Amino acid sequence: MPELPEVETVRRGLLPVLEGAVLHDVMVHRRDLRRPIPEDLEDRTRGKTIIRLDRRSKYLLFTLDTQDVIVIHLGMSGRMRIETGNPPPRDKHDHVEFVTAHHQWVRFGDPRRFGFIDLLSPKDIATYDPFTRLGRDPFDPTLKADDLYQQAQRRRISLKAFLMDQSILAGLGNIYVNEVLFRSRLDPRRPANQLTYHDCARLLPEIQTVLREAIDAGGSSLKDHRQANGELGYFQHSFQVYGREDTLCPACEKTPIRRIVQQNRATFFCSNCQT
Ligand SMILES: [Zn+2]
Repeated sequence: MPELPEVETVRRGLLPVLEGAVLHDVMVHRRDLRRPIPEDLEDRTRGKTIIRLDRRSKYLLFTLDTQDVIVIHLGMSGRMRIETGNPPPRDKHDHVEFVTAHHQWVRFGDPRRFGFIDLLSPKDIATYDPFTRLGRDPFDPTLKADDLYQQAQRRRISLKAFLMDQSILAGLGNIYVNEVLFRSRLDPRRPANQLTYHDCARLLPEIQTVLREAIDAGGSSLKDHRQANGELGYFQHSFQVYGREDTLCPACEKTPIRRIVQQNRATFFCSNCQT
């Protein structure tokens, strides 16, 4: 499942193709994704210019010269692929195609159809349901350790659940929460309201570092990826604990990594290092 770093990698991969581009054509082949694709998407986007590509949490936002905003969520299996010139026939899971005036094709494919594409007018953005529930972006420059600390004090949920809660921090998913907690040496089972300010001051830079490293890894894989098949956003990670059940902890090198389940999601941690 694409997490924040993958979505940011997709955004950066799309930038040279879509920023400033005129949408020569927009084709929708299937509308029944997690949210139905608006019936007027084609009419309101054809011939328009994309003036900006942004990311909000795990959502991609294309702002048009009309100020309408195309919102894209990759869901579980959504992919964006860039084709140039005369593209091969679309895959049956390519539900939407954007064609620029420079004959670049951007295809949105999603076999499981948990992703979606929506179109917002400027007045709808502030009240758009998925956005109103989003917390702070981990890279928000005004986000401070004390903000995390104040939020944590009010919650008795586990630290893992606290960091997964999108209404607190938007965009941290299961994989990166595991890595962040390992690098912060914090036990994922600890109740959030037992965190000290000092814990939060350790946590926040690790959150930003883990995400930034993943974005950088995605960026460096982008070139090779596009040469191979034009597909954006999925790359090889090296994780210290995620998926490493029963291997020795890379920090203490004596304790096997444990796997437990919290909120139906796998948690990997070292019971020796993380307290
Ligand atoms: Zn350890």
